[in-house]
Amino acid sequence: MTRYLVTSALPYANGPIHFGHITGAYLPADVYVRTLRMQGEDVLYLCGTDEHGTAITVNAEQEGSPYAEYVARWRTEIKAALDRFSIAFDHWSGTSISPDHAATSQEFFRRLDQNGYLEKRKGEQLYCPKDRMFLADRYVLGTCTECGYEQARGNECPRCGKELDPLRMQNTRCKVCGTTPEKRATLHWYLDLPKLRDESLGAWFRAHPWKPNVAGFIGNLLDDLAPRPITRDMSWGVPVPEDRSGGEKGKVLYVWFDAPIGYVSFAQEWARATGRPDAWKDYWQSPESRLVHFIGKDNISFHCVVFPAMLMGVRQGYVLPWQVPANEFYNLQGGKFSTSDKRTIPLEEFFARYDADAARFYLLASAPETADSEWRWQDFQSCVNASLADTMGNLATRVLRFIDKNFEGRIPPLDPDHAPGFDRTILEECGAFGDPAEHVREFHFRRAAEQLVQNATVANVFVDRVAPWALRKTDPARAASALNTACEWLAWLARWMAPMMPTKAQALWAMLGQTGPVAAQPWPGVPKSGTWRSLRAGTKLGEVSGLFAKIDDATIAAEIEALERRAAGEATTPR
Ligand SMILES: [Zn+2]
Ligand SMILES: [Zn+2]
Repeated sequence: MTRYLVTSALPYANGPIHFGHITGAYLPADVYVRTLRMQGEDVLYLCGTDEHGTAITVNAEQEGSPYAEYVARWRTEIKAALDRFSIAFDHWSGTSISPDHAATSQEFFRRLDQNGYLEKRKGEQLYCPKDRMFLADRYVLGTCTECGYEQARGNECPRCGKELDPLRMQNTRCKVCGTTPEKRATLHWYLDLPKLRDESLGAWFRAHPWKPNVAGFIGNLLDDLAPRPITRDMSWGVPVPEDRSGGEKGKVLYVWFDAPIGYVSFAQEWARATGRPDAWKDYWQSPESRLVHFIGKDNISFHCVVFPAMLMGVRQGYVLPWQVPANEFYNLQGGKFSTSDKRTIPLEEFFARYDADAARFYLLASAPETADSEWRWQDFQSCVNASLADTMGNLATRVLRFIDKNFEGRIPPLDPDHAPGFDRTILEECGAFGDPAEHVREFHFRRAAEQLVQNATVANVFVDRVAPWALRKTDPARAASALNTACEWLAWLARWMAPMMPTKAQALWAMLGQTGPVAAQPWPGVPKSGTWRSLRAGTKLGEVSGLFAKIDDATIAAEIEALERRAAGEATTPR
């Protein structure tokens, strides 16, 4: 039986996530998962934070927090932001807390070593005699070899932006204590990517039907693969397994190596929590499982080449990625999202004023699927006002309030004699409609959003054409049949909406007097004459209220002004 294992890129526990991340890797995955579920598919959706590495230790030390506390704070904050957008994982964890993570990562190391894909290399690294530790690049200060800047960091120069090699820098200092470090020999393990490529990875990659942007992005990368170091000298991370360490001490797995193994260890954690500890294997080690990684484009080579190489190299029957929907970059109002420059949309303020489902819908409708795209406040306004408030919300309230007033708030009866005529009108004469799920399955979320609006437009054309409000005076039975037909369409709309706007879909479902979660309904597909009606006439409607509030021009002008003020205010303050 086909199963789906869906992942979103593990956010790094070192800062907030913004709307660009949401639309890049989380929202599309959430919509995909919700759609598959309504279609009866077996899906497991996992995520959690990536919590190791020197970028984290440097920042934690700077603010004087223990590493574990520092990452816990970001883990919580990031999850809270994802919750605001109703991103619903089956399991959420973190690479420093997931109970299986260290053992599973060590098992990857062990198997890769046993299978001949690791090599040991001796090299030189800077060592601080006072702190008695090897210094990762970020822990070295010195003079930039490119531009002469004296406060350059060992990994890159903040002035000229060049990547640096700390071993070639002059006047180096330990970032922690200021002592001049010395060069010492150290031993590290490297993943033999060229060997994996020649044995299996290359053939698999070339045979796989990638989306054009992925294939194009990888380009010649396969030819240029080099062995890649997978260990570092530091304390925060997963230790190299003792039985393979050859007596070496103080070495942990490189964060890039252990992070993606989180996709496996979180599944193991999930399985244990459900009481079926082997259930993770159905998703990870069954040939019928489809692994889908939702990521941003900066993660493509990693998810399409490096991690698959690791999965192959352990020879444990792990599935390889089936699809890697990778989005381009998402910007904000003519510039990049930047938390440090405060070019962002503060979440608290946003959700105090706007609706999460409206944001979800606009983010999908403007998603950076094939090219970079951006959040424009004016476009958000017109999307909410036209597509959501007018086309969907107004349609619902117009029909349901009229029924409330004139038909005792109950779904009006359908006269069997009227059914074929109204079926023909709405199914053939009011414009094209289609199945949004078909686009979702193809990872075309923009088209899915457009399709939803188009489907709602059909019902607008129908009620305008049939005008039940006028008909009620001349032919009440016919008016009832027309309104019954409109209600049927609204019930379809609620189901079509459910993956993209889960809260609003449920609200519409309840307004129609339907019980239970709309997400538990089977996916409707497209309506066909003779079989598409399912509502029971006489069903009492729920309380009818507006689905979407319109946004006025002044509000949008204030948002743009606030954005400019925040960005300008920060630029004048030194960092
Ligand atoms: Zn420089
Ligand atoms: Zn030192």
